[in-house]
Amino acid sequence: MHKVRLESVRRKTGGRIHLTPKVPRGGPVTTLCGQTLGEGSFLAVESEPDCANCIRRSHDQARISGAFFAQEEGSELLRLSLEQARTRKPELRVLPHPAPEKEKAVVWPAAKPPPEVVPERVGELVTRGFKASGEGVWRSPLGVIVRMRKHGKDWRFAEVVYEGEVVATRVEGGIRLKAGDVEVAPEGDGYEVRLRKKT
Ligand SMILES: [Zn+2]
Repeated sequence: MHKVRLESVRRKTGGRIHLTPKVPRGGPVTTLCGQTLGEGSFLAVESEPDCANCIRRSHDQARISGAFFAQEEGSELLRLSLEQARTRKPELRVLPHPAPEKEKAVVWPAAKPPPEVVPERVGELVTRGFKASGEGVWRSPLGVIVRMRKHGKDWRFAEVVYEGEVVATRVEGGIRLKAGDVEVAPEGDGYEVRLRKKT
């Protein structure tokens, strides 16, 4: 299939740059997007087109050929390509009544919700093994409840609640707390809360 060179045209008053088969020296011009610009109201330009309709239609050989004919620029070659385009066009066929099953709506698979992304760390809490159980509340596999408190943008350890064995040990910089499977230990200026390593 041969490519037809199209020309860019624009109103003298500005606006979008359209495409047309040939910018005539006189008379009106019809753009690919179907606008007729009156004689003397337009200029041929070198710039790339920016009219979306013109750009889209510039990929449609039949449109271009039609536009050429409209401007009486149609050569035998173009006439041919128009005819080819016509015979190629399936939508020109007269279809019998559509079969009912073809009218079924397309059922798109439901979009899967994104997997819940739990960051590795939420402030002072190392989240591995914990289940979020509300705003700032986390639960360990053994049922230890850890409450974190928002401090500026960060989450700081606030409270551990556990009805089971709790061991608090004085260490350098504070107290290390072991409650069930959770360990709270001083770290830097604050604490770190994490699941105890299995021993
Ligand atoms: Zn246009």
